[in-house]
Amino acid sequence: MSDCTFCKIVAGLLPSYRVLEDEHTLAFLNIRPVSPGHTLVVPRVHARDVWEISEVSHGEVADMVHRVAALLKTALAPEGVNVKHNTGEAAG
Ligand SMILES: [Zn+2]
Repeated sequence: MSDCTFCKIVAGLLPSYRVLEDEHTLAFLNIRPVSPGHTLVVPRVHARDVWEISEVSHGEVADMVHRVAALLKTALAPEGVNVKHNTGEAAG
């Protein structure tokens, strides 16, 4: 966890452009966006991937993803949106 980039961003040890946050999650713009509004949502409690995250924390992340999608729809009026997660090296 000590070398986790996302935890460092959550802790404010690395810079980020924060889009939205609550007591459980943080949403911030990807430093290398593949599309306008490319936002990452992470839990405040470290979890390596979907196999490690608790069901409760996963639900909190999902709630934030939903809020961010609504925010991006209002801000950027996209024709569509992708919601994606990668677990394991084979998945990227
Ligand atoms: Zn972490």
